[in-house]
Amino acid sequence: MIFDNSYTQLPNHFFQRISPVAVEKPSLIRLNTPLADELGLQLPDNNQQLAELFSGNVLMEGMDPIAQAYAGHQFGHFVHQLGDGRAVLLGEIVTDQGKRCDIQLKGSGQTAFSRNGDGRSPLGPVIREYVVSEAMHALGIPTARALAMVSTGETVYRETPLPGAILTRMAASFIRVGTFEYFAARNDLKALRTLVDYTIKRHYPEVAKEASPVAHFFRAVCNAQAQLLAQWMCVGFIHGVMNTDNTAISGETIDYGPCAFMDNYNPAQVFSSIDHTGRYAYNQQPLIAQWNMGCLGGCLIPFLHKDEQSAKAIGEDILATFTPTFAHHYRTGMCAKIGLASESDHGFAHVKRLLEIMHQDHVDFTESFRLLSNATTDTPPFASLFSSRKLIDQWVADWQALLDQEARTRAEVSQSMRTTNPAYIPRNHRIEEAIRAAEDHGNFTFTHRLIEVLSTPYADQPNHHEYRKPPEPSERVLQTFCGT
Ligand code: AMP
Ligand code: MG
Repeated sequence: MIFDNSYTQLPNHFFQRISPVAVEKPSLIRLNTPLADELGLQLPDNNQQLAELFSGNVLMEGMDPIAQAYAGHQFGHFVHQLGDGRAVLLGEIVTDQGKRCDIQLKGSGQTAFSRNGDGRSPLGPVIREYVVSEAMHALGIPTARALAMVSTGETVYRETPLPGAILTRMAASFIRVGTFEYFAARNDLKALRTLVDYTIKRHYPEVAKEASPVAHFFRAVCNAQAQLLAQWMCVGFIHGVMNTDNTAISGETIDYGPCAFMDNYNPAQVFSSIDHTGRYAYNQQPLIAQWNMGCLGGCLIPFLHKDEQSAKAIGEDILATFTPTFAHHYRTGMCAKIGLASESDHGFAHVKRLLEIMHQDHVDFTESFRLLSNATTDTPPFASLFSSRKLIDQWVADWQALLDQEARTRAEVSQSMRTTNPAYIPRNHRIEEAIRAAEDHGNFTFTHRLIEVLSTPYADQPNHHEYRKPPEPSERVLQTFCGT
């Protein structure tokens, strides 16, 4: 690996230099070989050396490990110091395509930001993050990636003793809204300016040439978040902890905790055991993302205009673009799910009607869109998911009339729907099954199989039909946990 670390060139109070805390008996669970190849990483070919590397026991030349400082709004309340309490940024690499990435260990021991935490991670959440982040990537959604996971051979104590593990993950960067809030809360304008300039150069270099680069930067981050949220909503993804410290400036999905995909369509769905008020429910996510962008905007005020009132007005105008941008991407995405090449009021009204029937009949979100992809010619499998047969038959008749106005043949429509409506998502009960086998029996077969099936979510995989099926009532997962 060739490291080219730029964050460590920033002032000292942006991070703490710290090495991962060694673990007893690391063992490699999985290496993401396609990703390692894509990145052009030169890795040892022996599992024990890989385990030593991805546990942080051994550092490679060029690594300059740090824990990053950040703050954040957690469930709406500001916490002025969070930071990497159980993560260590090993360094940055630049791929052959010129893409700069952060490589980070999660679960690598205490840092100056650990507060009362042990700096470790149980195996279950590591498996969940690996599986879900890789599934998101395969679905075409911007996300941090999982490069490797190792078990540590140590016990982590939560409510019960659990096996420990470490995830190696990578992202365009782990700079968060909370990173800006950290310096803004300290009124450290010099550091804030440094961070703004650094982030623009790293993630949005095209705005540097604008007359007001910071305003353009803010607009670009809002756009990236609005697009990301539309993509989450179109696959039924619920992040679970959309705190500002878990919101990446790059527009990638990061910090997978008690995340989940919904099974039956329910706009108010919440899985996270710590989300008591439903703040981060499925249908609240776009609003929350905009709220998070408001927090970022607040940090940028000093750089938007020298007059504070004018600066606020500029920030608010940009923030107001979030809702229409999100709506455009969401409507386009949802219209594509029913086979329409572009969005329109009429087409979207049709989507909403379908969602209402799905909600009322407790129908599986993913499976119904996937079966709808074939319903251009074969309706019974789709229609049979519903108990309100009259309503759905009427809906299908109206939908087919709508498709007749498309410039494409039914076969073409069907084909395009199958590239936007996945057959396979990381279903909660399958993740639970993989975690149970791994934690209780040290058996990773289910984990590996799940990751492999989810790597081609839009393909029909007749040998893995069981991974497509919604849970039986007895298999249904009602709550997910973050494992902090
Ligand atoms: P999260 O909600 O998991 O993103 O974590 C919020 C904050 O708590 C971050 O600053 C984490 O680094 C910190 N944190 C979470 N779990 C632990 C842990 N086991 N030990 C130390 N810090 C932790
Ligand atoms: Mg976090």
